Amino acid sequence: MPKPKYARVIVKVSGEALLKGASTIDQKTLEQVADDLVASQKAGTSIGVVVGGGNIFRGVTVSKQGLPRPTGDTMGMLATVMNSLALEVAINRAGGEARAMSAIAMPQVCETYDRSRAERHMEQGRIVLLGGGTANPFFTTDTTAVLRACELSCEAVLKATNVDGVYSADPKKDPKAKRYDRLTHADAIANDLKVMDATAFALARENRMPIIVFSMAEPGSIGAALSGKGRSTLVAAE
Ligand code: UDP
Repeated sequence: MPKPKYARVIVKVSGEALLKGASTIDQKTLEQVADDLVASQKAGTSIGVVVGGGNIFRGVTVSKQGLPRPTGDTMGMLATVMNSLALEVAINRAGGEARAMSAIAMPQVCETYDRSRAERHMEQGRIVLLGGGTANPFFTTDTTAVLRACELSCEAVLKATNVDGVYSADPKKDPKAKRYDRLTHADAIANDLKVMDATAFALARENRMPIIVFSMAEPGSIGAALSGKGRSTLVAAE
């Protein structure tokens, strides 16, 4: 594996990326993500992972069906803990050492998120799974990823998606959509490019946190993004 450019990062894996036609979690995709994370950690990057929950519950969807939004969001946050538990097992099986933590206390299930504990796990070579979102409704796991990256002194957020970077328009709908290799936070705002939701992006911009957007479709894509070798878009302060 090529030498990583970053010493410590948060990898954001969307819940939807784990779905791949399965009803909740596609086992093969889960194993691929775990293998990739373990290889990247062994190559020298300290890693925290924020997993989404969109493959199981999204607050907005649930609330459209009649439940209050905070209840739907709580269900969504619990879904992120479920995904974190699955990824914890997959990472341990892949030869790494993982610790699931939840921002919502559930001591029978996993450790409660605590900044210094999470940092200690990372220093000791463990991959930390940061479940339970921010523990507050009306936020997303993109916001959680940027927040944890700022808190845990990370150098970047790696946003694993289904596309190989940021485009001027949806590349699935517009064949003329332009792909960017590099952007500033200000460019993304000026051109209304959807890198992350507005809250997450505002936090990243204010804290000059770089965001690397890449596709996790291929095995090895997390390592490639970390070493700057794969196709990705870097959104940085300048
Ligand atoms: N969520 C929340 N607060 C948070 C993080 C997540 O309420 O701090 C809820 C929200 O309902 C969200 C769901 O958890 O829709 C799953 O997260 P997200 O939609 O970000 O997952 P992804 O799209 O990455 O799968």
